[in-house]
Amino acid sequence: MKTAFVYTDDYLDYDYGPTHPLRIVRLKLTYDLIGAYGLLALSSVQSIPTVKAEEKDLTSFHSEEYLNLLKQANGGRLTGNAYCLGLGPGDNPIFPGLYDLSLLVTGATLQAVDFVADGKGEIAFNIAGGLHHAMKSRASGFCYINDPVIGIMRLLSRGKKVAYIDIDAHHGDGVQKAFYETHQVLTISLHETGYTLFPGTGFEYEIGEGEGEGYAVNLPFPPGTSDDVYVWAFEEVVPELIHAFQPDIVVTQLGVDTFYDDPLTNLRLSIFGYERILKRIKDLAPRWVALGGGGYNISNVARAWTLAWAVMNGIELKEDLPESFCREAEKMGFNERKLRGNPTTSPDSVNEENRVEMERVVRYIKEKIFPKVRH
Ligand SMILES: [Zn+2]
Repeated sequence: MKTAFVYTDDYLDYDYGPTHPLRIVRLKLTYDLIGAYGLLALSSVQSIPTVKAEEKDLTSFHSEEYLNLLKQANGGRLTGNAYCLGLGPGDNPIFPGLYDLSLLVTGATLQAVDFVADGKGEIAFNIAGGLHHAMKSRASGFCYINDPVIGIMRLLSRGKKVAYIDIDAHHGDGVQKAFYETHQVLTISLHETGYTLFPGTGFEYEIGEGEGEGYAVNLPFPPGTSDDVYVWAFEEVVPELIHAFQPDIVVTQLGVDTFYDDPLTNLRLSIFGYERILKRIKDLAPRWVALGGGGYNISNVARAWTLAWAVMNGIELKEDLPESFCREAEKMGFNERKLRGNPTTSPDSVNEENRVEMERVVRYIKEKIFPKVRH
């Protein structure tokens, strides 16, 4: 099995601002931890330096008007109708180089896509990608350019059938919307319910329209959901749909903001639940383009994506984090010593009310969606 890791330190030239929760340093920490464990030196691994996407790649999804605005905003100043298109102080700030950073992130996703689609290997990981909220003509939820959509568009143009699985705590609304009326792409999003979390969508009754009816799947979890209920619902729904659909390639958004100690969300997963899901995705995905996503506790991000990369490569890691990494990482605000930590510090495993609610959602999906999804 061959795998590719796409990355560049150039990401660190950009900054959403001192108070913004999306901190670029989490990418550096992840890369350093993966390197410290020796996971980039494996003979089966290709390290690919990120190359910017070309402007024409972005037009497969985004409008020209919006792309022009992003280019103008690249200087770091507010222009024209920026507010109307989602840019401005708050979630989607205008900072110097925001368009350049978007080209880098999207370029990495396209490199991951091409690596897998060309048959150079089975799995590729772009930890900077997964910016799933960006809309055709609007920035949203820290996302300017929707790299998952642009990556999937590239796969479709190459004649591939794609299943998209999104395990970020937030609904993958931009990706769902882009493919809501087609059966060429099966989108499955597991997230905290829109009743309590941005973007307020992703209810089970959003199932696609027209030819796409049955090809959008949503598992909205109540706040407080922990590993057992989450993994149970995943097992009830995702494997059967993937087997029925038989995608050529699975694209995943692997947000790490579902954990009990994430500052922005209300789910209560642990790294153990995350690892179980990652192992199941590996079983299910014949070829796999893995993208990053949210994650606002940077210690969790570095450890979970390192674990994810180990799963992708079939490697078991030792629980003690490499000393060399810990010394440097401390300077960046990383204070953990263990890869997974102690399971007894994880949240209670069963919440009865949440289980009853998810049993209802799973029944709904089995009734409305299972009969529709075909190869
Ligand atoms: Zn998120």
